[in-house]
Amino acid sequence: MRIFAIGRNYAEHIRELNNESLGEPVIFMKPDTALLKNDEAFYYPEFSKDIHFEVEILLKISQEGKYIQEKFAHKYYQEVGIGIDFTARDLQQKAKEKGLPWLLAKGFNGSAPVSEFVPKSQFTDLNNLNFSLEVDGTQRQNGNTSLMLFKFDFIISYLSTYFTLKKGDIIFTGTPKGVGAIQKGETLTAYIEDRKMLTCEVK
Ligand code: MG
Repeated sequence: MRIFAIGRNYAEHIRELNNESLGEPVIFMKPDTALLKNDEAFYYPEFSKDIHFEVEILLKISQEGKYIQEKFAHKYYQEVGIGIDFTARDLQQKAKEKGLPWLLAKGFNGSAPVSEFVPKSQFTDLNNLNFSLEVDGTQRQNGNTSLMLFKFDFIISYLSTYFTLKKGDIIFTGTPKGVGAIQKGETLTAYIEDRKMLTCEVK
C-alpha cells in the first residue's frame, strides 16, 4: 500500500500558513513506515522542534484503477477514516524556502496515525462531513468536507492520472484551519461527526 496526501485543500488553512492556492492540488506521499495503527503512541523525534497536527479525512482505495473519470471515482473507494498528517513545520519551512521536496518534513516515522476505516455508506453525504481534533480534551480543529477545494472524486481522478491506484492505498485529503504544535504528554483525539475514531498519545 501507498499513502498519498493532498496539501492546500481548505482555503482557511492555506491562509493561516500564508500559502497560495495553485489551482491544482499539491500532492505528496508518505512511506508505509509512517503509519501508526490501533491508537499507537507517537514518539516525538529529535530532529524537529515544531511538529504540527493536521487532522484529515482518509479514503481507502478498494480496487485498482488508472485514468479514472471523476464520474466513476466513487466506485474506487468504499471506506473512509480519519488520520493525522504530522508535519515537521520547521523542516517543511526550510524545504519550502529552498524549493526542496517535503519528504523529510512529512514522511518520517509515525507521521501518519490512522483510524479504523468504516463503510462510506454509514454517512449520508460525504461532501458534508464534520470532523474534528481535540488535544487533551479541548477542540483545536474542526472542518467540514463541503469546504474542500478539491472533492474526493476529483482527487481520485487526479491522482489516478499520474499513479495507478491500488487496493489498500490510503489518501489523506487535506486539513482544515487550526493546525498547531504538539507537545510531549498530550493526547490527540479525532472525530468524524460525533464518533471518536482515533487516539494518539505523544511521547
Ligand atoms: Mg496535511
